Amino acid sequence: MLKGGEFLVKAQEAATAFSPAQFDEEQHMIADLCREFMATHVDPNHDRLDKQEDGLMESILKEAGQLGLLGTGLPEQYGGFGKDEITLMLQTEILGAGHSFAVAYAAHIGIGTLPIFYYGTAEQKEKYLPKLASGEWLGAYCLTEPESGSDARAAKSKAVLGADGKHYILNGQKMWITNAGFADVFTVFAQVDGDKFTAFIVERGYEGLSLGNEEHKMGIKGSSTRQVFFADVKVPVENVLGEIGKGHYIAFNILNLGRLKLAAATLGGAKRAIDHSVRYANERRQFKVPIASFGAIKHKLAEQALRVYAVETALYRTTDLVEHKKKELLASGKTDAQALLGAAEEYAIECAILKVYGSETLDYVVDEGVQIYGGYGFSEEYPMARAYRDSRINRIFEGTNEINRLLTVDMFVRKAMKGQLDLLGPAKSVQDELMALPSFDEGPMHVLDNEQKAINNMRKAILMCAGAAFQTLGARLEQEQEITMSIADMAIELYISESLLLRVQKLVAAHGAEAHSLEIAMCEAYLADSVDRLHLAGKRALNGFATGEMHRMMLLGLKRFTKAPAINGIARRRLLADALIAKNRYFL
Ligand SMILES: Cc1cc2nc3c(=O)[nH]c(=O)nc-3n(C[C@H](O)[C@H](O)[C@H](O)COP(=O)(O)OP(=O)(O)OC[C@H]3O[C@@H](n4cnc5c(N)ncnc54)[C@H](O)[C@@H]3O)c2cc1C
Repeated sequence: MLKGGEFLVKAQEAATAFSPAQFDEEQHMIADLCREFMATHVDPNHDRLDKQEDGLMESILKEAGQLGLLGTGLPEQYGGFGKDEITLMLQTEILGAGHSFAVAYAAHIGIGTLPIFYYGTAEQKEKYLPKLASGEWLGAYCLTEPESGSDARAAKSKAVLGADGKHYILNGQKMWITNAGFADVFTVFAQVDGDKFTAFIVERGYEGLSLGNEEHKMGIKGSSTRQVFFADVKVPVENVLGEIGKGHYIAFNILNLGRLKLAAATLGGAKRAIDHSVRYANERRQFKVPIASFGAIKHKLAEQALRVYAVETALYRTTDLVEHKKKELLASGKTDAQALLGAAEEYAIECAILKVYGSETLDYVVDEGVQIYGGYGFSEEYPMARAYRDSRINRIFEGTNEINRLLTVDMFVRKAMKGQLDLLGPAKSVQDELMALPSFDEGPMHVLDNEQKAINNMRKAILMCAGAAFQTLGARLEQEQEITMSIADMAIELYISESLLLRVQKLVAAHGAEAHSLEIAMCEAYLADSVDRLHLAGKRALNGFATGEMHRMMLLGLKRFTKAPAINGIARRRLLADALIAKNRYFL
């Protein structure tokens, strides 16, 4: 199995990459249960939820709890079902299509529950987790403040040990807190003795805790988002979560899996938006024919589906890597919580990539969805307007996409510095290859050979650009965010494209090329564009720091490593669009 971040220097064997074709019977059963729950409890209520009808969101969350949907991943001893991460991700994907409900649900099972699971003492876990797993209590997470968002550690909320030595006295103000309106338990971050960033478990009933009004938001209007105020709130010392001064570990580690789950939720939303888009394109007639028959609309449908298929592929590939690591850590004697935490941390780079790509794909899909609907896309009477409004938040929370891009590169550099990832060796080999004459090897022997070659070269292009940026700028690279962001974009292209290739290679190996001609066409179409996008990102990065002869050499090298396979992308997209149109839904 690849280690975290290793995809940058090493290929994964297709046979070892998990594909959604491997979901087992139980996973399908749980997926069906989630679909039924959506159809009976969530979908009929979007309008009422968006109006924040009193008690409605809590009651739906509690019904989800009664069905066991809030404790899927938690161990049985805490009222959960101890299911694997793939199952949990599939559940998150399907419920992720639930607009505001999806946000409330994800906040509860993720940031609302996991800090206690990961870092709680045995007593804290016993007290809170069974109630959170059943939905008897609902959870929220209070990190952000009016003046500290991305810079979360600059929080001003403070806690001091009271004179009785048994309580911390908590004062401060938190902002944008999901589920605040009805949560029973809050994980709250505050500075102890001025600068020891610390997490506390705070119950709603503690005196001095109060709430602001509901925020008037652009989207996810049914999700409760409020400020939370703490005025001399007495928090028992036994409610310190983790260690004093170690709150940043909780605050940031919780986000790794959260980012992956966010990608799963965006996937669910995007598949549903495609369903609407295809159905509408089939129904709507202009110039006496369905608009689905126009090439311009076919392109949109195909591109929506291509990107969504790519998100799905990379999401479950990563989740499987996390699950394997979790099992490895469990076998080495770690507890459930330590194993999950460690596994998510190992693949933090991949989680950040999925967060960015998933959220940007959903934005793309709903934007094109509105366009396919034309004027009706702009009307609240049709489903695309809500999808469009609700999508936008995903690029902002769980770390903005800028922060996640910067983190991606930062984590690569840190891993290399710590000796966990050998970037120097492979970067040097690429430099040597550049100095040598290009090899004019034979053309493709098998299906997808060109794409495999393109992936290998994409890897080289990144190593060349990133290596040169690091050599030229050294520690200054951190200040050159435009360059870092471009390198992150290159890494995203590689990871997503390679995931797609692995999935299709695996399908072809199992059933032959003929049975998967559509997937092959999709892979070829996606890869050809991805190579071009990577070329552009690389050029932007190089033009930002390289000069003189080195600049010229690097641009030539980039060109050599980013030769897109010459394929007819229009024909391949038409094939996909026609299949979507025939099935009248997303079916891949
Ligand atoms: C609907 C909603 C629900 C939320 N739910 C919760 C919740 O439950 N709990 C919680 O604690 N928080 C929650 N948040 C807060 C959310 O996590 C923050 O909004 C987010 O982290 C960004 O912080 P900010 O809004 O202060 O933006 P800022 O940090 O002020 O960022 C503004 C812009 O500057 C960019 N930027 C900031 N720093 C850098 C940098 N170093 N380099 C480059 N660019 C930078 C950002 O990418 C962004 O584009 C929620 C927010 C919303 C809107």
